[in-house]
Amino acid sequence: MSLIKRKLTKQIDVGGVKIGGGAPIVVQSMTNTDTRDIKATLDQINRLYDAGCEIVRCAVVDEEAARALKEIKKRSPIPVIADIHFNFRLAIQSIESGVDCVRINPGNIGSFDRVKEILRAANERGIPLRIGVNSGSLEKDLLDKYNGPTADAMVESAYRWVKRIEDTGFTNMKVSIKSSDPLTTIECNEKISELIDYPLHLGVTEAGSSKEGIIKSVAALGVLLREGIGDTIRISLSEPPENEIDVCYELLNALGLRKKRSIDFVSCPTCGRIEIDLIGLVEELKKRLSHIKKPIKVAVMGCVVNAIGESKEADLAIAGGRHFGLIIKKGKRIKKVREENLVDEFVKVVEEYAKEI
Ligand code: SF4
Repeated sequence: MSLIKRKLTKQIDVGGVKIGGGAPIVVQSMTNTDTRDIKATLDQINRLYDAGCEIVRCAVVDEEAARALKEIKKRSPIPVIADIHFNFRLAIQSIESGVDCVRINPGNIGSFDRVKEILRAANERGIPLRIGVNSGSLEKDLLDKYNGPTADAMVESAYRWVKRIEDTGFTNMKVSIKSSDPLTTIECNEKISELIDYPLHLGVTEAGSSKEGIIKSVAALGVLLREGIGDTIRISLSEPPENEIDVCYELLNALGLRKKRSIDFVSCPTCGRIEIDLIGLVEELKKRLSHIKKPIKVAVMGCVVNAIGESKEADLAIAGGRHFGLIIKKGKRIKKVREENLVDEFVKVVEEYAKEI
């Protein structure tokens, strides 16, 4: 697996899912349904669960949403985190509804007495809190001191809250510092990781959609994870949240930190030697093999130049030729198939292999 040496943080338990302390990096996301709409929220949680999401967060906008969490929590296949801004009462009501964790940004809760009320309620139920600091909700004194939401301002805010919370005797927490800027996200998390041993939740906030969002998130999280920092991740995209999960696993898989629960494709970029429609072949195979939920490495190569080497690293491979393809299993050629039958034949081979492992 991975050569990355992860920082050993304190371990917390979010509804049975361990975070930190050497546990696998946990993939999480957030619903974008109206939490008061229990059915829509649960439908989305189930889609997230099917995609491989391990913890889900729901926005709590009012008392009705806090109450709805009771039913959502009861029927959710994965632990549920209440996402609170501004209103400490909603945090307490969500805890009463049985959620597995509450995310607060203490800086926008109003006063430390109110934060202490939340700590007391969380302590009574034995659930952890996520202590968040975002560039958009930083305290005024730190914005003045640092002339804006710099990395140092956010680190000082997070560290200050952690210490104040620790002073009350509460230590069941994870911490997140999020910025929409990847370099600031890296700097903040490197610095806070030096100062505290609580598990860290990583993410780039408001990263955007598709290519931009993915690249910003992966640029920041890739660096941090490589440095051994981070215990749970969310890739925030302005897209259906289900799309975030695949990206999380691709990233963790690329770093050897988690295995994908689906086909890991390797394909060549094509060049002037190509004599087969490789791009179409890869697209078609991705669609036709999306039902396979096993970590199988598949290499699809345009010609024999790199196919022999790659096929040794892959479980199954195709080496393209002039309107035909060789199907290779564990480095051994098993079939030569005409291009028009290649997808059907290869899908059969992968399905059989998936049954064997
Ligand atoms: S595998 Fe063959 S076709 Fe694909 S990029 Fe390499 S040399 Fe070109």
